Amino acid sequence: MLELKNITKSYKTGNCKQIALKNIQLKFRRHEFVVILGPSGSGKTTLLNIMGGLDHFDAGDLIVENQSTKKFKAKDWDAYRNHYIGFIFQNYHLIPSISILNNVLMGLTLRGISAKKRKRMAKKMLEQVGLKDHIHKKPKELSGGQMQRVAIARALVCNPNIILADEPTGALDTKTSVQVMELIKKIAKDKLVIMVTHNKELAERYATRVIEMCDGTIVSDSNPVLEEEENFTKGKFKRTSMHFLTALHLSFHNLRTKKGRTFAISFASSIGIIGIALILSLSNGFNRQLKVFEQNTMAEMPIVIPNQIEESSIQRETSSELEEYPNIGYAIPKETPQEVNIQPNPINEEFLTTLKKIDSSIVSGISYAYDIGLNLINKIEGKVMPLDASILESFPDCLGYESFLNEKYDLLAGRMAKEKDELLLAIDSKNQVQEDTIRALGLQKEETISFETILGSTLKLVFNDSYYQKVGDFYRINPDLDSLYEDKETLTLKVVGIIRLKEEYKDYVDTAELYYTNALPSYVMQKNKDSAIVKEQQKNDYNVLTGETYDATSEEGQALKKQFLSFLGNESIPYMIQIYPKDFSAKEKIVEYLDYYNEGKAIDKQIVYKDEAKDLSTSSQNIMDAITMVLVAFSAISLFVSSIMIGIIMYISVLERTKEIGILRSLGARKKDIARVFNAEAFLIGFASGILGILIAKLLLIPINSIFYHLTELKNVAILNSLHASFLILVSIGLTLIGGMIPAKIASKKDPVEALRSE
Ligand code: ADP
Ligand code: MG
Repeated sequence: MLELKNITKSYKTGNCKQIALKNIQLKFRRHEFVVILGPSGSGKTTLLNIMGGLDHFDAGDLIVENQSTKKFKAKDWDAYRNHYIGFIFQNYHLIPSISILNNVLMGLTLRGISAKKRKRMAKKMLEQVGLKDHIHKKPKELSGGQMQRVAIARALVCNPNIILADEPTGALDTKTSVQVMELIKKIAKDKLVIMVTHNKELAERYATRVIEMCDGTIVSDSNPVLEEEENFTKGKFKRTSMHFLTALHLSFHNLRTKKGRTFAISFASSIGIIGIALILSLSNGFNRQLKVFEQNTMAEMPIVIPNQIEESSIQRETSSELEEYPNIGYAIPKETPQEVNIQPNPINEEFLTTLKKIDSSIVSGISYAYDIGLNLINKIEGKVMPLDASILESFPDCLGYESFLNEKYDLLAGRMAKEKDELLLAIDSKNQVQEDTIRALGLQKEETISFETILGSTLKLVFNDSYYQKVGDFYRINPDLDSLYEDKETLTLKVVGIIRLKEEYKDYVDTAELYYTNALPSYVMQKNKDSAIVKEQQKNDYNVLTGETYDATSEEGQALKKQFLSFLGNESIPYMIQIYPKDFSAKEKIVEYLDYYNEGKAIDKQIVYKDEAKDLSTSSQNIMDAITMVLVAFSAISLFVSSIMIGIIMYISVLERTKEIGILRSLGARKKDIARVFNAEAFLIGFASGILGILIAKLLLIPINSIFYHLTELKNVAILNSLHASFLILVSIGLTLIGGMIPAKIASKKDPVEALRSE
């Protein structure tokens, strides 16, 4: 079944060529106990390694089951070792980090046998070698004889056809040697056992055939195979493979035996992760703070469209041609800037309709301010009196404006105002209301006023034709306010809801106001635009209420007249529009929308808008960008350093575990499997350092946040979100895998014989 044909093997050391085997011709029977004797250096180990597929010969052929191995590929040799050969070494070669049970079942694992079955098989084998009570011990907890029995169990558990034993009793005392020999004889009675030994006495007692070697040749063979003896049959080998979980298990136990070091390594490589975690948390927190700040700013800084625009004269660009800080003896006259020129902003019906069609998802509110005079009266302490129109303010309205209200205000009582005759009372953060407002609503000034009392309180709005009476050339307010109060033409405005700014906005716009809806001014304008006083004002070149005169031919005079008319309700164009964006990106969209409206229009038809929050946002954005850049650079450096470090650590680990690599290879592990073991180790270290890094970062955030709190009064500035945390753990694993890749490759390339020889 096994035949060596003219096998030659030599080693090169420097310039010297050392011939280890010379033209070896040997045949073995399926079942025999062969002992190879010979002085040290005669080539016994080399012969065994070649027969076991651990080492490769220079010339000749090794015939297995009637098949030449000349065309064997690496994976065929691996399969051959795993399925065909059981190795027993002089110094046992057990993997020290795992239990003896796991040592024994490693070969079965490589063969892809299920966990349950291989455990059963390994246990049974350990029982047979008399180690039933020790299966969970580590190799170093056993005596030499016991370790050799583990090695025997490991060699036999895969049920190989050939057992190759290289001086298995070399390190044992005579008594133990005899026990081990008995064991090998008992278990291997139906196998081909080829054993190398120095002990001639043992050889003669157990062997069925003794071969003697000297200087790389066979000098005697007590029982050579005769030509007609063997009937060769063809066999097949299955290929081996190691599951990644097995690799993980191996690496996990290896790391566990070096807890302190593993912790130190994980800690060292987690420093990069800690740094990045902190950076992410901080930029996270700063972004959040910035966003809150931006939103608050936005509440105060809408996009403003006034009806008049200031146009400062275009500065002559002459100054750019002049040298800075000239060393000359004369001064240069500079043109005085022209006075500010006021231009009308072309707000017209077309623009107003366009504005109404704006996407409600980007706008949280639009307020239209009209110059219109509201003729308000109310019964105060039993007496009907006219009220100052400034008691009412317009409330930002957009497509039902609920979004604006919900976003910035809490509704404390009642409901939202919708109709023209409905009012909303906004109280400030301390629930205060202006005394004037209380009075105007006809309420008693008391220590506190219940929301119920306020809800349903009213005031009245009178239209021009009832409110004004013509006396001579002028108009005056109708003195019979009592009957106006009772008149059914008079519009009753009632408070239907009480609102208060949300806490996060209070620092910016915390004022108490009484608000009307946008439906009111349009209704009033519609009622008043054709009233007698408006017609009269249109005809005359003086203010029909006050008698103030103006020069109607001048532009200024026309503007004044327009203003009077607008006060009386003849103007349907607001004097100021304020657009409240949902957020910063929405603001950009609004600006785009306005620009789109302006596109292609003549310059004097283009709407001019003011975006006061813009400068602020761009500067804060720039600062954030700069900070982010610096932090990203830091992260990159720490990541780079940490992957190099992992590479070095993995390389050290490869050096340390060289022996284990040899053992695994002798059991039939493929190169790929060896790489897998180290990748698994890298994976575990990466995972550990990722977790450790996140934990340490979380701990560090506590003092960092408390320092920030003391400095800025901002709570929880730095927050590590779980998405970033999991991402960083993945990054850590990824980096260690990359860092470990080259060492893993080095490990997988190691020559198994060399690896086994290393200490
Ligand atoms: P034995 O096991 O009989 O003591 P070996 O098979 O180990 O002998 O060695 C046979 C010869 O080959 C010796 O001369 C030894 O020095 C040489 N040899 C074995 N392995 C190597 C090696 N890796 N490099 C160089 N020479 C080697
Ligand atoms: Mg030897």
